[in-house]
Amino acid sequence: MDVHQNYIGGRWVAPSATLPVINPSDGSKVAEIARGGAKEIDAAVAAGHAAVKGAWGKTDAVSRGRLLFKMAELIRRDAENLAKMESEDVGKPITQARGDVAACARSFEYYGAAADKVHGETIPFQNGFTVMTFYEPHGVTAHIVPWNYPLQMLGRSVAPSLAMGNAVVLKPAEDASLTALGLARLAEEAGFPAGVFNVVTGLGEEAGAALSAHPGIGHISFTGSREVGILVQAAAARNTIPVTLELGGKSPQVVFSDADFNEAGTIIVKAIVQNAGQTCSAGSRVLIEDSVYERFTGQLAERFKATRVGSASQDLDLGPVVNATQKARVERYLDIARRDGLKVLAEGSFGTNLPEGGYYVKPTLIGDVPPDHVLAQEEIFGPVLVAVRFRDEEDAVRISNCTPYGLVAGVWTADLGRSMRLSRKIQVGQVFVNNYGAGGGIELPFGGMKGSGHGREKGFEALYGFGALKTVTIRHGV
Ligand code: NAP
Ligand code: MG
Repeated sequence: MDVHQNYIGGRWVAPSATLPVINPSDGSKVAEIARGGAKEIDAAVAAGHAAVKGAWGKTDAVSRGRLLFKMAELIRRDAENLAKMESEDVGKPITQARGDVAACARSFEYYGAAADKVHGETIPFQNGFTVMTFYEPHGVTAHIVPWNYPLQMLGRSVAPSLAMGNAVVLKPAEDASLTALGLARLAEEAGFPAGVFNVVTGLGEEAGAALSAHPGIGHISFTGSREVGILVQAAAARNTIPVTLELGGKSPQVVFSDADFNEAGTIIVKAIVQNAGQTCSAGSRVLIEDSVYERFTGQLAERFKATRVGSASQDLDLGPVVNATQKARVERYLDIARRDGLKVLAEGSFGTNLPEGGYYVKPTLIGDVPPDHVLAQEEIFGPVLVAVRFRDEEDAVRISNCTPYGLVAGVWTADLGRSMRLSRKIQVGQVFVNNYGAGGGIELPFGGMKGSGHGREKGFEALYGFGALKTVTIRHGV
């Protein structure tokens, strides 16, 4: 059985303690990873600084871009291998894992192409002065990512930081560290100088907490739960450094009577079933105009009944959830629904030959959920869609905005004016009109409002976030 090592300062470091790697499809142990802590984090941050002071700090933007392109090329070369690794580690159906690999490669490609396009400005000022601005890297950046889309999160967080010229220390989730280590091997092969790309695996409370509190870090990019996000922001505050928080959501899909039901139904069910509902931007509330509520929930129910759950390699509509805790969490919400007499409109089914010991839950559609009910307020992070009625446009906006979150919204209507009004009034970081792409492409700035966090990933926004703007004012006389 493989015992994986940490990658620190361009060297593979044997662990002093390990953690098991569990396959969620059957609960079996498939490998071990290092249980890194403060000591390994210290070494990784020091290695990052050495790289920035040394070879990496002297690497120009064009060359950084080429290294990122090389990463994209190697990720694509090893795509099938990485997809298998990911699907075994987190239980994703293999087709969905292949999509994650492609998205990760695309992040490196996008930011590789952007590395030499970070322009400063000249600013009109008093006579006899010239003022210009530069983006400078923060130094060593920390990246703490969750287990739901490990490769995608890693790519969109690490690639812009490297493009800007930072060195990175990555702490993957305990339940999803294998592909992060796979990418470290590719970074080595691509030719990044030692210490630019460091990976320390371990527990959140140990390696994660040590990294977020480290005084040598210049920026933290965190994706995960609100609870941990608050701890990470508090740690960043003590070092007065910037932090990007990508937290959860309770994203509404708002369906008006004039929507294309067929199109909307297909995409809405896919967006909640994808990755077994473990998607921060899953459209987990469907808000339906009263006059068409029965008709549209009827169509959704048919689609839910057709969904099938299987192991990662069976590659059905959804795989298991990531671990026993996550399964218990989803079941607890379903128990609350039963206790409160909510109506289950439809369930998906388990496929044949489901392996014993896996963490499987059925996709579930629940009807007539009051907007303030806990199932319509809290993030379940499983394949559970709650249907909520609304009266009119104003009511749709009010209900959309009535949770602590504000990540993404879908608006389904043929009325252009209405789609614009809702796009402006719903408090979220991304709105999709007559389509829904969980998180969208790497080109589209993404992030939350309210309890969903702050700062933006993806697009040029993310790239600028990984730099500090410096203003230089020169007095030369007239
Ligand atoms: P989590 O428990 O917050 O974990 C996220 C990351 O933080 C993991 O790497 C975790 O390590 C680490 N961590 C845990 N405790 C820590 C601590 N005290 N200090 C520093 N780091 C710590 O979240 P999760 O259960 O993995 O993911 C589910 C949540 O993430 C959901 O709420 C979801 O909505 C959110 N999410 C948001 C986005 C987004 O882009 N907005 C994307 C994906 C997920 P360990 O796993 O090793 O403990
Ligand atoms: Mg695992």
